[in-house]
Amino acid sequence: DFTEKQKRQGKAGQAIGGEPYDGHMTALIWFRDDLRLADHAALSAGAADPDGAVALYVLDEESVETRALGGAAKWWLHESLSRLAEALQGHGVPLVLRRGAAEQVVLDVAAETGADHVYWNRRYGAERHIDARIKERLRDSGIDAHSFIGGLLFEPWTIETQTGGHYRVYSPFWRACLSMPEPSTPLPIPGELRGADISLPSDSLDDWQLQPTHPDWATGIAERWQPGEQQALQQLERFLSGPTNAYASRRDFPAEDVCSGLSPYLRWGEISPRTVWHRSLASGADVGTFLSELGWREFAWHTTFHNPPLHLHGLNPQFDRFPWKEPDADQLQAWEQGKTGYGLVDAGMRELWHTGYMHNRVRMVTASFLTKNLLTDWRIGEAWFWDTLVDADTASNPFNWQWVAGCGADAAPYFRIFNPATQQKKFDPDGHYVNLWANDSVLFPEIVDLRATRARALAAYDRARHSDVEPD
Ligand code: FAD
Repeated sequence: DFTEKQKRQGKAGQAIGGEPYDGHMTALIWFRDDLRLADHAALSAGAADPDGAVALYVLDEESVETRALGGAAKWWLHESLSRLAEALQGHGVPLVLRRGAAEQVVLDVAAETGADHVYWNRRYGAERHIDARIKERLRDSGIDAHSFIGGLLFEPWTIETQTGGHYRVYSPFWRACLSMPEPSTPLPIPGELRGADISLPSDSLDDWQLQPTHPDWATGIAERWQPGEQQALQQLERFLSGPTNAYASRRDFPAEDVCSGLSPYLRWGEISPRTVWHRSLASGADVGTFLSELGWREFAWHTTFHNPPLHLHGLNPQFDRFPWKEPDADQLQAWEQGKTGYGLVDAGMRELWHTGYMHNRVRMVTASFLTKNLLTDWRIGEAWFWDTLVDADTASNPFNWQWVAGCGADAAPYFRIFNPATQQKKFDPDGHYVNLWANDSVLFPEIVDLRATRARALAAYDRARHSDVEPD
C-alpha cells in the first residue's frame, strides 16, 4: 500500500539510502488513554513533522486484548473525545474516528494519510501486545512507528527488586520509585502543532452511540462531572488550593470534600500523572500522602504490566480453589441497587450508580461486603464496578478488588473483614454521607447477619487454605 517515495523517507530532513528528502512528511498521532494536548509526547513528536499531523482515535471492540468498555466509561469517552476534537481543531488538526480492530485500522489510516511517522504513548496492559504487532507491521512497511512513555510516572521495567523481579509489596515498591530520577517535567502543548492538508473520512461520534438515550441513566453523571483537559487542570488547582491540607487526616471520611476527584481524568489521560506530580510539589503544600496514593496507581499498573489481564485471575493461586457461593440473585441485586439495609453500603452503591464514582473508603467497604459477607466471587463485583465507574481502568479496578478480596498484591489479609456498621460509625459519625445517598436504608431489612456471615467467610477461607488441591 505504500509508495516507494514513502518508504525512502526518514526523520525530518534526512534521507534514507542516499535518496534526497522530497519535502513530504506527515505524522499520524494515535490517541488512546491520553485524551489531552499538554504533556503528550506523541503529539509533540508529530508537531515537528513539516507537513503537519493527523490525529486518530480507534474504538476497538474486536481485539481479544481489549476489554469492552462499561456503560459509564463510554459516557465519559464520548464527552472526552468531543472536547479533544475541539482542542485539536483549534490547531487545525483533524481527529479521525474509526471503529474496528486497531491492528487493521491503524495500518489503513497510515496508508490513507501517506504518513511517514506514526506516534503513540504507550499502554501497559494486555493491549500493549496489539501495539507491538502494529509497530512491527508499520516498520515492515517502511513507516517510522514510535512510542513514548504513557500515563505512568515510571516505566514498569525500570522498577525492579535487587534480584531483578518485580515488587509484590507496596512500601518497598514506592521507595524504589522515589529513589529513581524524578519523573520528567511535563511538556507544553506544542506551539508549532498544525494539521496536515488532507481530509480523511471519519465516523461521527454520535453514530458510535456511546451515551444512553432511552432511558438516559447518565443525568446524575453529567451533573457531577465535566470531562476534558481544561476541567482536569481546574480540578487539580482546586484541590491544591485548599482540600489538600486536610487530605492526610480526613481522606477516609466520605462526607468531606478533601479528595482530589482526579481519578477519571487520570484514567482517560486528560491530565498526566507527571503534571499532577510536578504541580503538587510546586504548590508548596504537604502532598506526600497524596502522591503516595498516586503511587498506588503506579503499583496497580506495574502489577498489571507483569500479570495481564488482572480481571480474570487472582494473583494468589490459593484463591483459585476458594469456595465462592453461587450468588443469590436477590442479594446481588440488593447490593447493586443499594438496598442491603446497611447504610454505608447502600449509600456507596447509590453514589456509584448516580454519579459514576464512589469514595475510596466506601469502595473498600462495599467490596468487602460482597466478597466476604455475601461470599461472592470478587470478579462479579469487579464487573459491576467496571460497568458503572467513570474511572474504571484495567489496572486499578481489578487490582483493588483483589486487594479487598485478599488474593491481590500486598492485599489486605482475608480475615480483615470490614464491618459496615462500625465503619459507618467511624467514618460517617454524623451520618452526612449516608443521609445524602440512602436516608431510607434503615427501611430495608438487613439482607444478612454480619456476625454469622463473617464466621462463614472465615471458615471458607480456612477450608481453601487447607485444601490439598494443588493450584494450576
Ligand atoms: P485521591 O484520594 O485524591 O487520590 C489521588 C489519585 O491517586 C486518584 O485519582 C487515583 O488515580 C490514585 N489512587 C488513589 N487511591 C488508589 C488506589 N487504591 N488504587 C489505585 N489508584 C489510587 N481507582 C481508579 O482510578 N479506577 C478504578 O477502577 C478503581 N476501582 C477501585 C475498586 C475498589 C474496590 C477500590 C477499593 C478502589 C478502587 N479505586 C479505583 C481506587 C480509589 O478508590 C480511587 O482511585 C479513588 O477513590 C479516586 O478518588 P480521588 O481521585 O478523589 O482519589
